[in-house]
Amino acid sequence: MRLISVNKNYKKCSRCKKKFPATKEFFYKGGCKFGLRAECKACGDIYYKQYRKDNRDKNIKRHKEWHTKNAVHVKKYNKQYHEINREKRNENSRQRHIKKSEQEKQYRRNNRDKLLANALRYKIRKLNQMPPEADMELIQFYYTVATTLADYQVDHIKPLYKGGLHHQDNLQLLNSSLNQQKRSKWPLTPEEEIKYKGYKLGSKII
Ligand SMILES: [Zn+2]
Repeated sequence: MRLISVNKNYKKCSRCKKKFPATKEFFYKGGCKFGLRAECKACGDIYYKQYRKDNRDKNIKRHKEWHTKNAVHVKKYNKQYHEINREKRNENSRQRHIKKSEQEKQYRRNNRDKLLANALRYKIRKLNQMPPEADMELIQFYYTVATTLADYQVDHIKPLYKGGLHHQDNLQLLNSSLNQQKRSKWPLTPEEEIKYKGYKLGSKII
């Protein structure tokens, strides 16, 4: 009777000296005995992690050099790749967009009370920080224009949360996405002042 032979090959790791079955479960593919590497996977991972850490700067430099040398090819390849995968990319970004807006809707549904409370607090803050000389008509005009224009919001140049006033001089119309980036940033750097410069509305001409 013949016995079915199981893999009885064991291999000693050259680093930790432990014995493991000579399979790809324990060793990476390599040029040593059984077509595997000399050290076990665990030792290899530690070693390569350290190696990558030690050679980080060198590798970055090499990578950059390669890219500068092959810039033309890379550009050509990227362009081709984008052409071929245009539909796929568009579909992916559509799916991402749908998922994100679903998540936002869900968040609004789940946090309805919280959001309403925030909105109310914001309203009260506006009223409290509106000086008596504020031109209420002009302020209202900002909000009317903002609702008419798509993608624009009324921005308090110095945020209400940083003590800014609810006053026409402190208001501007700002692109919605820029406004969301700006949030309660204050003070602004000179670059940010340019970036977040919106449109001012003047007094109504009589
Ligand atoms: Zn080992």
